[in-house]
Amino acid sequence: MAIDRRTLLGVGVAAASTALLGKTHAASEIPASRAKRLRRIATEEAWSIPEHIEALIGIGQTSWDNLDAMSWRPVTAASPLARRLVDIDERLRIMDQLGVDMHVLSLTSPGVQMFERAHAVAMAALANDRMAEIIRARPARFAGLASFAPQDPARAAKEIERCVTKLKLNGFIVNSHTNNEYLDLPKYWEIFEAAEALNAAIYIHPRCPADTMARPYSDYEMRAAIWGFQAEVGVHAVRLMLAGVFDRFPKLTVVLGHMGENVPFHLWRTDHWFERRRASYASKLLPSEIFKRNIMITTSGVEHGPALRYAIEVLGADRIMWAIDYPYEEMPPAVTFMNEVGISESDRAKVLHENAERVFHIEPA
Ligand code: MN
Repeated sequence: MAIDRRTLLGVGVAAASTALLGKTHAASEIPASRAKRLRRIATEEAWSIPEHIEALIGIGQTSWDNLDAMSWRPVTAASPLARRLVDIDERLRIMDQLGVDMHVLSLTSPGVQMFERAHAVAMAALANDRMAEIIRARPARFAGLASFAPQDPARAAKEIERCVTKLKLNGFIVNSHTNNEYLDLPKYWEIFEAAEALNAAIYIHPRCPADTMARPYSDYEMRAAIWGFQAEVGVHAVRLMLAGVFDRFPKLTVVLGHMGENVPFHLWRTDHWFERRRASYASKLLPSEIFKRNIMITTSGVEHGPALRYAIEVLGADRIMWAIDYPYEEMPPAVTFMNEVGISESDRAKVLHENAERVFHIEPA
């Protein structure tokens, strides 16, 4: 069979080598992910309710010198972002076009964590109730991570119990620091106690760096996804590990987005210096031991094959879930990435849906 230059360049290596070997393009040569379509569960999908967006826009309109407030300053009720966070029909249309089976919804960052205590407690409960209604209406298309207000740890623990036992939600989300404090402080540990007891994972989602490290992030738009988000959540995750949170709560599952918020890439060095300074830390567990036992990561916003293959090699495919980060990222590139990335078909199934079903208690299809 003759092959011209255009065929080689245009059709790609797989098809060209098939032609070179004189084979027809049999069904057995179609990647399994396309031949037998895998269920796609996207695990970090932002959503909101009008009351919540209105409150965040209100914060943006204050003169509060805070990086998250600055991020909300340009947003109005007419912004496309405000619509896309709320509009379930638009979201479903795009999901249908692309074969995205399920979004695991979560209240958009910074959740309720910039509100005064009573407002935060009430807003979390309202958003959780609305989320549960959406899931009840379309249980095959949506699951949800509930919010709680760390500003009131005792009420947060009660809300965690309500969301699992009454609302049947699938886990929790917290947007990193609350009033510049991290959850390694023992006053917050009743939150972990409640989540562990209910076998509910807590997703630590980004917000902008805390005021205490804000200055260098206030230039060049560094506060957000270009660097600030991953720096903020990476710090949070390492604090939890070194404080002994996972020694005290051995069955707790914490989820980190964005391919682990930089921490996996430095895990060898973190282990190395943990070993050299063991006496300094409350934890007895190596950071890498914690990562392989208590921490899941997701691919949100990172469509990079080498990064995913590294994470599979270092953490194992059982610890990685697919995510889009809609509407902050668009759905098509995240779908294409998982269709095409060079990993085994069994790993692709784990990342696309099997791990999410296990961690978030989603009924297998
Ligand atoms: Mn996100």
